[in-house]
Amino acid sequence: MNLESFSAGWLAPSNRQIMIAGPCSAESEEQLLQTAAALSSSYVNLFRAGIWKPRTRPGAFQGLGSKALPWLIKVKEKFGIPVTTEVANEKHVYEALKYGIDVLWIGARTTANPFAVEEIARALKGKNIPVMVKNPVNPDLKLWIGALERLNNEGITRLAAIHRGFSIFGNSEYRNPPQWEIPLKLKEMFPSLPVISDPSHISGNRHFIPPLMKKAMELSFDGMMVEVHPEPGKAWSDAAQQLTPGDYLANLEKTGWSYSGEAGWSLDLLRHEIDMLDDEILQLFSRRMKISGQIGSYKMQKKLSIFQKNRWRQLLEERIRAGEKKGLTKEFIMRIFDSLHHESVNRQKILTNDCSEEMLQKH
Ligand code: PEP
Ligand code: MN
Repeated sequence: MNLESFSAGWLAPSNRQIMIAGPCSAESEEQLLQTAAALSSSYVNLFRAGIWKPRTRPGAFQGLGSKALPWLIKVKEKFGIPVTTEVANEKHVYEALKYGIDVLWIGARTTANPFAVEEIARALKGKNIPVMVKNPVNPDLKLWIGALERLNNEGITRLAAIHRGFSIFGNSEYRNPPQWEIPLKLKEMFPSLPVISDPSHISGNRHFIPPLMKKAMELSFDGMMVEVHPEPGKAWSDAAQQLTPGDYLANLEKTGWSYSGEAGWSLDLLRHEIDMLDDEILQLFSRRMKISGQIGSYKMQKKLSIFQKNRWRQLLEERIRAGEKKGLTKEFIMRIFDSLHHESVNRQKILTNDCSEEMLQKH
């Protein structure tokens, strides 16, 4: 595994833990907005909601699927909190990326399946979106590391591990006993890999969550993922282990966590979003220039002049009108399109010169 490429602090500013909260499952737009509204005044760096839920037995609620993606995006737009959801196959990845989900996580049942992880990793190639990997359901550290490596091999460098405990047969105090030595070994082996604690899935019972949150702080985990629901008892999945937003904040305070008021986006995530947008802009510029070249060839064949004043004037007016509707200033739009137009005209001139030289050589 390429350790150099792991970067701690990709989500929250370094020396600060990542706080992830939100419902187990997205149930409605209102439920997500209501939860986010209550959380936005408490500490949360990242808002979670499951929309594809790999359940152990058939018949359980398996999530609402893609129709819930725009609701998560609404949370991000309205409250300025980045959002995360679970992906279990490549279709989920494409959908989540299409809508602009900020961070993905891989669930415990999926981490245990190398082919599924490989499929997800390949679908993410070239995207470098942050991905959090839950431990596999079985206490197998190598399988957990293997999933991280598969993602890392496809160029995902912003990785985190989530410790949610391990399944056992029979009764125990915890739904998924933590076996702390496993995440601690992972931390020891990969000191720059953020390891996040998930007290909700370890406990399976909201009453055990506060001591587990404390324990995660004491063991210097790099953050926590806590299931929070406005009416936990009525939740469609994991009802017994979700906290109200008020209880979440109160328990966070009891751990000694000091609320700095800096909830939401970290600079790194925002910068990553800008990088992705700039990449898209450059691709669009490049496509535009190619079409411009085709127009140049056409003009040359038809012996039309390259610069056509009326077309340019009309185009600029339209772009200014459209841009202003999108909140951009007239000056900015004029500068951008003037520059684009200049480049297009230059390209067409070069093209026509090249072609005439080619023609001269041929004849
Ligand atoms: C979840 O986070 O809601 C979830 C299903 O978790 P896990 O994969 O840990 O069971
Ligand atoms: Mn859950």
